[in-house]
Amino acid sequence: MPVPLVSLSKLEGGKDPLVTIKTAEQIELMRQAGRISAKALRKTGELVRPGISTLELDRFADNLIRMEGARPAFLGYGGFRGSICASVNDQIVHGTPDAEVRLQEGDIISIDTGAVLGGWYGDNAATFAVGQITAEAQRLLDVTEQSMWAGIAAALPGNHLGDIGYAIQSMAEAAGFGVVREYVGHGIGQDMHEDPNVPNFGRRGKGLRLKKGMVLAIEPMINAGGSETCGPFEDGWIIYTADHSLSAHFERTVAIGPDGPEILTKE
Ligand code: MG
Repeated sequence: MPVPLVSLSKLEGGKDPLVTIKTAEQIELMRQAGRISAKALRKTGELVRPGISTLELDRFADNLIRMEGARPAFLGYGGFRGSICASVNDQIVHGTPDAEVRLQEGDIISIDTGAVLGGWYGDNAATFAVGQITAEAQRLLDVTEQSMWAGIAAALPGNHLGDIGYAIQSMAEAAGFGVVREYVGHGIGQDMHEDPNVPNFGRRGKGLRLKKGMVLAIEPMINAGGSETCGPFEDGWIIYTADHSLSAHFERTVAIGPDGPEILTKE
């Protein structure tokens, strides 16, 4: 689940943000929350098909997360009414699960799942095809996922936040797609949203220097058309592409290890 691009550090006058460093023991606790988040994402994704409602997906994920002994991280967060975010087609993120929203052949749906276990958070997302989708929609999904992996590969100790953003942005823009600016990834730990902001755009060698023990949610949101967003409207949550082009979203929770990135949201 991304955050609006309003860095705490900016509010505090441009100093480097206060980024918590996790111990090996704390990262182990985050692996457990991450495993449940990943299982919820995979299993909920397996239910995606024409005719199912986004509320049915939400109820399934909520039950799975609780059966694993965790709590859905998004439910009640800032007043959010779902246990997952379910964002269809031109919805970028923060789609509210809804009994009236039934998936149709050819749709794409971004599902974001988070679990909190023993006070530690996991957060991950992926975009799924509903039945047969167009070649262009499939290319959007493929490029967005690849850009996430490129960003993760740049999450090395001694690199900078700008290296992550640059890797994502350059790949997505080379494919002709728009990179969402107003919503970004984030630090994560005992809060779902910690400093720093993790933008999906940036310049090499710029921004906060990455250190072992930082844990980041890396989550490109990529539009088939322009990068501009609109919303939220009356519901207070759902963010859309301004030009109503399709949008995809992939996310992993990633620990910066001594030698490189480690995915914490994996089974
Ligand atoms: Mg997130």
